[in-house]
Formats: sequence, structure tokens, C-alpha cells
Amino acid sequence: MRSRTINPKDWLTALVESGVRVTTVQETLIDIFAHSEYPLSAEQAWNVARQSRPKTGRATVYRMVEKLENLGLIRRVHGYQGCSHFVPTLPELMMLFICLSCGRAEYLDSQPLDDLIQQSEHTSGRHITDSRLQLFGACSDCQQKA
Ligand SMILES: [Zn+2]
Repeated sequence: MRSRTINPKDWLTALVESGVRVTTVQETLIDIFAHSEYPLSAEQAWNVARQSRPKTGRATVYRMVEKLENLGLIRRVHGYQGCSHFVPTLPELMMLFICLSCGRAEYLDSQPLDDLIQQSEHTSGRHITDSRLQLFGACSDCQQKA
């Protein structure tokens, strides 16, 4: 899906460093978020987790999602499904594309954005550390089906 992928081990390290006791539930959730092609809500992550671990607690999943968001490992997709869905955050500044037909999320190679940011930093003296650019539309598969 994404041109760059998440290393679940980095997430585990970040969680441990933040004082979270990592159990297999946490590992399962990291796996779910790191490999999903679609933005996931906490509720959906809970449903997916229960397919392999039927006893997974709902509150545990919600707490974990909050923790991952607080640590900046996942980010909220705004203006989509009530702003309650998350995608993994990539270390680089990248543009997120969401297909409004199938819901697939992709990070785009954002070289033009990088250039713009660099130029802006250079001319204004600003230091830009984060971006939330989201693009919505139809992916190539969905356009072919239409
Ligand atoms: Zn699509």
C-alpha cells in the first residue's frame, strides 16, 4: 500500500519507552494498524483484534489507540468518517490520499511538497516539523470500475 512502510518493532520500542506494559494484545494491535490498507477506528481495530483474540477487551483497545495517537505513531484522518479513523504516521512529511469510494489510504510521494516546505523554511526562517495534508478522491481501481 504505502510507498514507505512502518516497522512494528519501532512502535514496540516507543511503547516500552513510554512505560506501557506490552502484551500480546498490544502486539496484535500494532500489527493491525501497521498493516491495514484502510484507516481504522478504535472500534474497527477491536473487531479485527477479536478475530484472532476473541477475548480482547474493548477498553484495552481504546486505551491503546489513544496511546498510539499520543505517541504520534498513528494519526487521525480529519474530515473522514467523523474524524475517528487512524492511519500510521510516517516519519517523513507526506501527503495522505484517501479514496472516498473504497476507503483505501495511501501516502503519496511528496517531493513537490518537500520542495515547497524547504523553500518556505529558507525564505521565512520557519522550521516546519509536521504536516497534515490530506487529499481525497477516487483511487485508480475505483475509477476503472466507474
Ligand atoms: Zn478506491
